[in-house]
Amino acid sequence: MKVACFALDGVRGIGLVDEAAAAVRPFEPPFADMVALIERFDEVRDGPRTGAPIPLAQVKLLAPIPEPRRNIFCVGKNYRDHAREFAGSGFEAGAVKGQEIDAYPAVFTKPPSSVIGPGDTVDLHANVTQAVDYEAELTIVIGKAGRDIPAERAFEHIFGYTIINDVTARDRQKNHKQWFMGKALDTFCPMGPWITTADEIDAETLQVICRVNGELRQNANTRDLIFGIPSLIATISGGLTLVPGDLIATGTPAGVGIGFNPPKFLEAGDEVAITISGIGTLMNRFA
Ligand code: MG
Repeated sequence: MKVACFALDGVRGIGLVDEAAAAVRPFEPPFADMVALIERFDEVRDGPRTGAPIPLAQVKLLAPIPEPRRNIFCVGKNYRDHAREFAGSGFEAGAVKGQEIDAYPAVFTKPPSSVIGPGDTVDLHANVTQAVDYEAELTIVIGKAGRDIPAERAFEHIFGYTIINDVTARDRQKNHKQWFMGKALDTFCPMGPWITTADEIDAETLQVICRVNGELRQNANTRDLIFGIPSLIATISGGLTLVPGDLIATGTPAGVGIGFNPPKFLEAGDEVAITISGIGTLMNRFA
């Protein structure tokens, strides 16, 4: 199933998305938020009770987890072609030719304050950066807590999947020699449009597509991840307890703005649309 967080007349709800009917059906009784649904999913898994459908056109879709309890985990350089384009762009601090592919995944975080929803506007922050870029990413939503999770049990801990645009200020990413400063700005984590539950898709064969103003920029498949989903969960949960509602953005494929020469940075008025098969499309405008 697909589950969304939405606002109707300023009141938040959690509901089941019916794409064919272009509607959302709020759960009854309601869940306080998405994390409550994730934690009590067994109550609705086999036969959710819902209220009358509300046309999607009448609601404002929010990020499925609008206020994560802690930072969003993100993985860098997790597709070979992207690792090469990043190293060759001049924007990777410390890049070494011939050593573009890492032996261990690069993991960084984005703070909860960076999260916005589908259709929301990303702030270009022209006072602190002149090099804003997009990154389309399949994102894991953790369902069951665990620490030191073995790779072969990783999928037992996944509730579902959503989309994140890991928006990045490339000049800050390079200048500060560490990724947080370029990744953590307010509005730099568009998320949505909803969560597809894990039983509905094979996350290891999803197509990840990104268009800027309708122009195809990224087009890859999650089967090409260097560090796959089980490996990422095993690595990140090593000595660190993952909890329901935690998010792990799995990395972006080739075709980001710095992959072009000269780079194609985002400008005011640009629209970035990310589509992942089995999930949907996350669209945001930049200003
Ligand atoms: Mg990224």
